[in-house]
Amino acid sequence: MSVRTQLELNLKSVEDRIGAACARANRMRADVTLVAVTKSVGAEVAGMLFDLGVRDFGESRPQSLWAKAATLPPTVRWHQIGHLQRNKLERTLPLVALTHSVDNLRLLDSIDKWSEKQQRRSDVLLEFNMSREEEKTGFALTELPAIIERLTTLRSTCVRGLMTMAALADDPEQSRPAFAELRVLRDRLRTVVPDPHSFQHLSMGMTQDFEIAIAEGATLVRIGSALFEGVP
Ligand SMILES: *Cc1c(COP(=O)(O)O)cnc(C)c1O
Repeated sequence: MSVRTQLELNLKSVEDRIGAACARANRMRADVTLVAVTKSVGAEVAGMLFDLGVRDFGESRPQSLWAKAATLPPTVRWHQIGHLQRNKLERTLPLVALTHSVDNLRLLDSIDKWSEKQQRRSDVLLEFNMSREEEKTGFALTELPAIIERLTTLRSTCVRGLMTMAALADDPEQSRPAFAELRVLRDRLRTVVPDPHSFQHLSMGMTQDFEIAIAEGATLVRIGSALFEGVP
């Protein structure tokens, strides 16, 4: 089977599963965006996925995002989904539609300062460590008061929602409590944080658990392995 045919089958299968999960949850398919996570493949394979109609692409390492953004068509919406070091934000922010992984207040401040200087607006999500694993990045719930206070001081950065990664597990149901908790947190922040922040997004769910994430309200699912299975 050609790489293109394999990709087409994988994409169809992922699309069918997203569609079925939306139907079960009484949600519109249009309310969930598939973000194709291309960290395990090269720009050529990512380009084939673009040709198959995918427009939202995610990378966890900024350097990989820069490289692929230089070769894929400019109509791609890029998502920075992994940890962003402050010294990489100047090269990354101009390329991305959304940064999912703001995991500390210093980074948030730096993004805001840079954006103001450039006279542009940056859209971000706040990453929370809902699985409470020590090695994971993301804010802890104990940081909430400081976060809420800081959000009111931002001038050029809009928080569009929250992101989390569940713990690795064999049973996708194990991710459900973390996803449900993130949704409750998002709903609460939506009522207490003023405009221009909007909190419409929940970025949660990967190959192991995206159907559960959709059931719990995900608006962005970040999927890699299921799209690239069998692709060299
Ligand atoms: C790699 C990665 C994904 C995709 O994971 P798969 O299991 O390959 O679907 C999603 N989110 C983040 C932050 C990642 O680093």
